[in-house]
Amino acid sequence: MRIEQDLKLGFKDVLFRPKRSTLKSRSQVELTRDFTFKHSGRQWSGVPIIAANMDSVGSFDMAAALAKHHVMTAIHKHYSVDDWAGFVHNHSAEVLKHVMVSTGTSEADFQKTKDIMALSDDLLFICIDIANGYSEHLVEYVEKVRTAFPDKVISAGNVVTGDMVEELILAGADIVKVGIGPGSVCTTRVKTGVGYPQLSAIIECADAAHGLGGQIIGDGGCTCAGDVSKAFGGGADFVMLGGMLAGHEESNGEIVEKDGKTYMKFYGMSSQSAMDKHSGGVANYRAAEGKTVLLPYRGPVENTIQDIMGGVRSTCTYVGAAKLKELTKRTTFIRVQEQENNVYGRE
Ligand code: 5GP
Repeated sequence: MRIEQDLKLGFKDVLFRPKRSTLKSRSQVELTRDFTFKHSGRQWSGVPIIAANMDSVGSFDMAAALAKHHVMTAIHKHYSVDDWAGFVHNHSAEVLKHVMVSTGTSEADFQKTKDIMALSDDLLFICIDIANGYSEHLVEYVEKVRTAFPDKVISAGNVVTGDMVEELILAGADIVKVGIGPGSVCTTRVKTGVGYPQLSAIIECADAAHGLGGQIIGDGGCTCAGDVSKAFGGGADFVMLGGMLAGHEESNGEIVEKDGKTYMKFYGMSSQSAMDKHSGGVANYRAAEGKTVLLPYRGPVENTIQDIMGGVRSTCTYVGAAKLKELTKRTTFIRVQEQENNVYGRE
């Protein structure tokens, strides 16, 4: 047994130190980033925020709404190829450019990904997603997908340490998805005791990825726009959001009326709810590692995404970053033991 003594940090453990700046207004801040991806060589430009591939977040409707802001959506993997055909048929190249096709690592997943990607050349991103990215099987699967799709942008995860980021990039991933346990409806840390505070995971994994010319997605744990900024400040190239985008009209979750109020169901993709819906229940060898919650219904996602983007722009003005790309270079985090003043609760 070994213990690593240096304390790892979450978003709640830091704040940005403000810095002198010549920026007069947040409207001067550019959130669009341009990337050229390592293996595929493909170029992409957009706002590097991604709606999570959860079935009450990453819907086709969410993709259409967020693409207007050049924001991405990782479409959840429970749509059929026919559903995809309808979506591809009705949507512009601009929307498809802001979409990731999610997949697991089974043979059936591989075939389905091939069928979906064959629907349109405008589909650019493949998101290979398993809960435990430390499985050797993931590395082999990434190699297989890279061989089949040499010119597509491949993301793989989830992992939380630099060694595995490097292994996945060397196997063919352009982007590595980072996060084990920070999610709003995740119970992995409680059920297994495994995890890594998300800000430190981002800082360490970004360093490993950037050293090899790869990128990372900070996935999970953001509870407010300030956390999204902290993820970018820590070095995340993309930030993935589940809970912050759940509960909206476009999230396509189940609406529940209770005591005269309207709620939307939101659940982890390894929760009992998800497994009942998609896999005929929780297999007897495993435990559910996600929870189910009812969120007050929030209406269209438009205001929320503007609020998040406005918050990140504002962070950039506080530290003097004219572009999102500069935010991490302009970031000094101070370690703190307080965040907001909660005397009247959160908005
Ligand atoms: P959030 O933004 O809600 O904090 O986190 C979203 C992320 O939580 C997702 O992108 C995914 O990585 C993770 N996640 C989603 N469902 C589950 C689950 O059932 N169990 C665990 N461990 N993580 C989940």
